[in-house]
Amino acid sequence: MMQAINFLQFASKFAKNFTTGSDDYILLDVVIDSRKIQSGSKTLFVALNGSRYSGWEFAEDAYSKGVRNFILPEDCPDPILKSLEQANILLSPSPLRELQELAQLNRDNFAGPVIGITGSNGKTIVKEWLAQVLSSKYDVWKSPKSYNSQIGVALSSLGISQQHQVAVLEAGISAPNEMNALAQIIQPQLGIFTNIGSAHDEYFLDSTAKIREKCLLFKNVKYLIYRKDQSLLSQYLEKNFDPSVLVSWSDEPGGDYVLSIKPHNNGSKIFLIGNDFQTHTFITPFKDQASLENVRHVITAALSLGMKPDVIQQGLGLLLAVDMRLTLKSGINGSKLIDDSYNNDLAGLEIALEFMSQQITTTGRKILILSEMQQVGNEKAVFQKIAWLLEHYEIDLFIGVGKGYLGFQSLFTPESIFYDSTEVLLKSLDILSLSNDLILIKGARAFQFENIVQKLEALAHETILEINLNALRHNFIHYRQKLKPGTKMMVMVKAFAYGGGAAEIGNYLQEIGADYLSVAYTDEGVFLRNNGITLPIMVMNPGSYHLDLLLDKALEPVVYNLDQLKSLADGLKDITGMLSVHLELDTGMRRLGMSENDLDEAIKILQQAENLKISGIFTHLAGADEAVHESFSLQQLASFERSSSKIIQETGCQPIRHCLNSAGIIRYPKYSFDMVRLGIGLYGIEVNQLEQDKLQPAMTLKTVVSQVKKLKKGETIGYGRKGEMANEGEVATLAIGYADGYDRRFSNGKAKVLIKGQMAPIIGNVCMDMCMVDVTGLQVTEGDVAILFGNKPSIIELAANIGTIPYELLTGIGPRVKRQYILD
Ligand SMILES: *Cc1c(COP(=O)(O)O)cnc(C)c1O
Repeated sequence: MMQAINFLQFASKFAKNFTTGSDDYILLDVVIDSRKIQSGSKTLFVALNGSRYSGWEFAEDAYSKGVRNFILPEDCPDPILKSLEQANILLSPSPLRELQELAQLNRDNFAGPVIGITGSNGKTIVKEWLAQVLSSKYDVWKSPKSYNSQIGVALSSLGISQQHQVAVLEAGISAPNEMNALAQIIQPQLGIFTNIGSAHDEYFLDSTAKIREKCLLFKNVKYLIYRKDQSLLSQYLEKNFDPSVLVSWSDEPGGDYVLSIKPHNNGSKIFLIGNDFQTHTFITPFKDQASLENVRHVITAALSLGMKPDVIQQGLGLLLAVDMRLTLKSGINGSKLIDDSYNNDLAGLEIALEFMSQQITTTGRKILILSEMQQVGNEKAVFQKIAWLLEHYEIDLFIGVGKGYLGFQSLFTPESIFYDSTEVLLKSLDILSLSNDLILIKGARAFQFENIVQKLEALAHETILEINLNALRHNFIHYRQKLKPGTKMMVMVKAFAYGGGAAEIGNYLQEIGADYLSVAYTDEGVFLRNNGITLPIMVMNPGSYHLDLLLDKALEPVVYNLDQLKSLADGLKDITGMLSVHLELDTGMRRLGMSENDLDEAIKILQQAENLKISGIFTHLAGADEAVHESFSLQQLASFERSSSKIIQETGCQPIRHCLNSAGIIRYPKYSFDMVRLGIGLYGIEVNQLEQDKLQPAMTLKTVVSQVKKLKKGETIGYGRKGEMANEGEVATLAIGYADGYDRRFSNGKAKVLIKGQMAPIIGNVCMDMCMVDVTGLQVTEGDVAILFGNKPSIIELAANIGTIPYELLTGIGPRVKRQYILD
């Protein structure tokens, strides 16, 4: 909830595009998603265009929920405007611009300091940690999750309200000319430039150009914090900013604050030597370089704001060496957990509930375990909002933890359960009798909800395939941007979504705007339907048709030969209901499909078939990923154009035509027809190797070190004694083997794994459940995490090393490996 804004005043400067119709013009809330409107009064609806809809499409829904203030795009049709007759409406060429202006206004009305954070890495973590540390002394507002884009920053700023004392906002850019708009909204007094890395390099001339753009955020700061030993960055800042503004820290003497590191127990000690030669020590649970950099930015910022070192230490003590991303994992008794145990505020709760609503479980309950809020201000309003969210998101069981709920329990449904503390809840978890339920666990740091997660998590053997949903979305959008607007996107989720998990990925694709899904076999389609997928689904190889099942589950089989077509046409005569099918034409792949010679007969059958709808016609390219096959591919496409046009002409059907797989979208976007079929590219693998740098790897396979051994020169390792120590050294045993899909051809150095930031080669043969790596000199200990593939090593290189393709490695990952889905 923001500070009050008078919409009449705000909009009056646009007089000729502003019409009034309501007295309800004092705004306390701005929404861009009509589904999230609680009570429409005092609310402004800003209609932003999406990639497949116009914002005004949801204006009437907002109106019916009581909204009387609107910013709509200029092209909003008259009938819609008429139906909003008792509303105040501002028509704008760019509703986003207006949203940003409102955000700026809300920022202008805020007296407290605003901290603005940007940089290539660590923005979100630094923001979260700094907010955590500051909140021991102040009422803090921070951007929800990683809301750092053009829309995200505006919404973040609109969340600042009267009672806050300090705001921490992050800004992210990916291309030139984006920062100015964000800077005008945030107007930070204190800036943090986390670091400069290679992200988004393709859009900038060089690193200096990128630094210059990011620095626009800091035009008017009083203090700017940076790391002195990042030479490129500090050179730039020291040349372009007044020395009185700059506050640096460094490892070695040189910076304004010297913050050096020593290992300590399982984490690190940070020594601060101040200008006054006073020393202080901070204890943190972190060992890795990235976290230690982030935490030192936080310490420097808190010191600059005048916090005392011992108060800062108290706040740091609550930070955890865990990742703060929302994670979907398997729980006990077939349940699923959404672990968001890192922090708790209303904005974050809504995001988590939204994510929960995308995970459709058919059998179980939706349960929310929620601690008290860190939110300040009107307590009753906060609890009322929580109660409304529970109803809106159809939570079956609510469990509130913390004494703060006392006195407000009557706002919740009678089945709700309340506990004074996490300890009491931990003792009572049995009464939940979980079975196939979906549980969101969200708590403020101090409640230590990770203990609940630990108890409810299914026993894993700690080998995990992590699927990054943000990366999936990034890749999806990259492919969509290649196509002309309006082209539909089918996503191939055959083979368990290339190993990633068909139900979860299917649900997410449904959310981010895929138009179609496709599987290889009927039972895969049935599985998707049973997991709540409502998108159209094409089944490529349905075998002998089970008409009842196909109709019942609304699956669209592929018809790829004449006999099939005949028997299908016969079978459909005695049936009520329409069956939608896709015709597959073989234009050169020689796998499935009708040939050009079959066309005349096929058309005859189609002209007479009842209850049969041709919803698609398609073909598949045999060599889309290689330039040498270009003329063959173009022949295939020409043949497809000919044959499909003929079918359309002679039967009068209006099918969706589709030809291109991931490689084809990159190489032949002109031939996308009405729809494309995205597969491997969704996971961040560009098989042409033309645009790999534009994608983000979405799958990371990781495991843990079970044991470390010191071995002498000449000792042999594993079955057949194939590994041998060239020198004295250490070998670590990892909890993954070929039964998990870690290919046996990786034996004897054909693959390396990433441990402690370094690459360690496989030594000896890969076993069924384990394998060994040479970790000589890497100081590896039991329990350390090893990355088998991800950002590094890349699955593309690994596949090449053993003469196969990434598809085989991904789809081979065994059922024993737990899939976890993260959203940051
Ligand atoms: C698997 C498949 C795709 C997707 O291929 P990718 O190379 O993974 O993009 C597209 N069309 C058909 C017919 C397929 O079988």
